[in-house]
Amino acid sequence: MSTTPTDTDRQQSFAETALRLGGKSEEEARRMGAVDRADEQVEHMFAPQYQTVNSPVHKAAWEKRVPIELFMPPPLPASAPCDGAMDRSFEVVRRHREAGTLFDEHKKISTTVLGDLAQAGYWGMLIDPKYGGQGAPFQRFTRFLTRVAVQDATCAGLASVHGCIGAVDPVRTFGSPEQKARFLPRLASGEALSGFALTEPGAGSDLTAMRTRAVLVGDHYEVTGEKLFITNAVPGRSVGLVVKIDEKPAVLVVELPREENEQFQMVNYGLYALKHTWNRGLKFNRLPVPKENLLVPRQGDGLTIAYHGLNLGRLSLCATAAGSMRAMLANLLPWAHFRRTYGAPIETRELVKRRVARMAGLIVACDALTAWGSYLIDQGYRGELECIVAKIFGSEAQKEAAIELFMKTHGGRSFLHGHTFGDNVHELLAPCIYEGEGEVLGLAFFKSLLKEHGKQFFEPIGKAFQAAGIAKPNLANPRHAWVVKRELWAYTRWLVGQKFGGRQVDSVPGIDPRLAGHLSFAQDQFGSFGREISAAMAKHQLKLADRQCRMAELSSRVQDTITLLVTALHAHQKRDEVTTAAADIVCQDLRRKLTGERPSDAYFRDLSKLADTIVGGGFEAIAGAPVAEILMKYEEDVLGVEYSPPRGPRRAALIVGKPIDVGARLKESGKLKAVVSSLTTELESRIQTLLDEIGPGLPFPGIDGRKMIDADRGGLDVAASVV
Ligand SMILES: Cc1cc2nc3c(=O)[nH]c(=O)nc-3n(C[C@H](O)[C@H](O)[C@H](O)COP(=O)(O)OP(=O)(O)OC[C@H]3O[C@@H](n4cnc5c(N)ncnc54)[C@H](O)[C@@H]3O)c2cc1C
Repeated sequence: MSTTPTDTDRQQSFAETALRLGGKSEEEARRMGAVDRADEQVEHMFAPQYQTVNSPVHKAAWEKRVPIELFMPPPLPASAPCDGAMDRSFEVVRRHREAGTLFDEHKKISTTVLGDLAQAGYWGMLIDPKYGGQGAPFQRFTRFLTRVAVQDATCAGLASVHGCIGAVDPVRTFGSPEQKARFLPRLASGEALSGFALTEPGAGSDLTAMRTRAVLVGDHYEVTGEKLFITNAVPGRSVGLVVKIDEKPAVLVVELPREENEQFQMVNYGLYALKHTWNRGLKFNRLPVPKENLLVPRQGDGLTIAYHGLNLGRLSLCATAAGSMRAMLANLLPWAHFRRTYGAPIETRELVKRRVARMAGLIVACDALTAWGSYLIDQGYRGELECIVAKIFGSEAQKEAAIELFMKTHGGRSFLHGHTFGDNVHELLAPCIYEGEGEVLGLAFFKSLLKEHGKQFFEPIGKAFQAAGIAKPNLANPRHAWVVKRELWAYTRWLVGQKFGGRQVDSVPGIDPRLAGHLSFAQDQFGSFGREISAAMAKHQLKLADRQCRMAELSSRVQDTITLLVTALHAHQKRDEVTTAAADIVCQDLRRKLTGERPSDAYFRDLSKLADTIVGGGFEAIAGAPVAEILMKYEEDVLGVEYSPPRGPRRAALIVGKPIDVGARLKESGKLKAVVSSLTTELESRIQTLLDEIGPGLPFPGIDGRKMIDADRGGLDVAASVV
């Protein structure tokens, strides 16, 4: 991270200048300026090569080449020291989910589970081992979150609340050595679980409206104000609390009192989303907080700290969506196999196949964005643009998967109590809102993308007009054009360079032809984004801030192109047919969205082919996902058709006979070849005996996915299990 301090605090930001020049009210310019400054301060924490202007997305849009190598993270190393803690933590979640003991009497993740996870090392994943943590690289952490989310999305979400937006990231990134030594060991061990308290009743999207204040009184701050929607807000736990100190945003690490009192109260309300964890309001009335708990970033203020953690939280959200969608797809398949209409299972219908294939495509795209964004974070990039793309795509994909694909396929049963959709619909939709509502974030993405270009070319033009006292510039007016002749010349040179300067288009050796097509399409799109964004600025000039729909439209196209590019390259790295086919589907969908073309018959055939493979158990990504009972089963009673188990992915183990002590035989014989040969003959004979026993006349013992069949036939112990 860069250590060079700058005086950005005192400078007027680009947004502030633009809004003032564009005639916005003083208050709006000042508030947006504060947000923009916080953003620039985060920027200055990073070494120049990792700042937004040098990020892959910025380069792709404004430079003459899409830096393919920055969109294609290398595969993760096979193992890392944090793996043991990850496996143990995963087992805790899986075990409690299977035993039905994840939740307490309030239907919240129980303190036993939180404690078991603490023992496993879950809460210290992102904390340096010297403070008792696991030191997980972020890319490994997010991949792990996907795995956990398949089992339980709330557990996965809590790891992000604690580690990314909660107290962990602010302290490890901005804490002094003394603060790190004081807080991190307790945060790593799970003794202190944490959340992040930013939102207030009057301040959500507009964080500058925040009113909670801290006043220094002797050796402590007194905090007064109210927070709303705070996840993991429980007496005795910790929060990274954003307050105003002397009118500037700041972050205090607050250990919430164990009991409510005059200075601290919880505000309880009924909340549909995040129902398995506590989410509450917090009221403070001169709550004392030691002054040593104030985090002081080298530059910037509390919003700087908030934005840093939110970036990580946004990638984690995409990772969790990838896990939740795996669980949805794993639950959709048995139902589509079971449900028959007009005499055939709905899994054979093209409409349903489209949903299966689309869901696989969304999963692969979320995996791709998560891995890519997390890799950039590990490399040291700020990753703001990249994290926003992942957050928006992840939350929208999960929403589509839940409603358009999962709910519609499950029909009326979706709304039964006990159904995965009905029980979790709010959980599945809420990510569109928390950590920044998608469309508002899309505007932030666009503003970040054009900021440097605006500063370079449009701010000087605006300032020249302002200096000349021209309130309504019109370049057709020769006097107006004369005023900005120097600035216009610089801009014209840039435009000509863009139009005629040529672009480098790279190919990736050995890439599947389907993916290669998407790769060159994406590069082609990037060839014109710079000019398009610039043209929007030129047209609307300093009023562009009011053209939100235009900004949103452009923003969404750039984001879609990034998703397409990253997904195609991710599939290329994976080199397996199902991932490639799923990536191809989502890339074709994105291309059609971008070009407005209609789907071809070949596309529908691709969908069906991929769906058939997935229905046949060929999508490894969903292996091991828990599958709920089908509700209101009916065949046996109504149709007299025996239910056959789904052909979803599963692992099978067939144990024939008693265990053989190979070591003892080797000792006895002394010849490896002879032992292998006798073992092979023996095994063949045991299998033959087993097959003879089953025989054509005997019904094959039903394997229903849960039951263990343990038959003792003719001296052979036979056990078959399907997991
Ligand atoms: C389940 C859940 C968990 C949460 N957990 C936390 C937490 O742990 N900590 C925390 O601090 N917060 C948390 N939040 C709060 C969350 O981050 C906010 O709800 C979110 O940022 C949106 O703020 P808001 O609800 O006040 O929406 P508002 O600010 O009221 O905005 C409503 C909508 O108005 C529109 N809008 C607003 N401003 C503009 C604009 N300038 N231009 C165009 N349109 C605009 C947007 O569509 C926006 O979404 C949580 C929320 C939920 C639902």
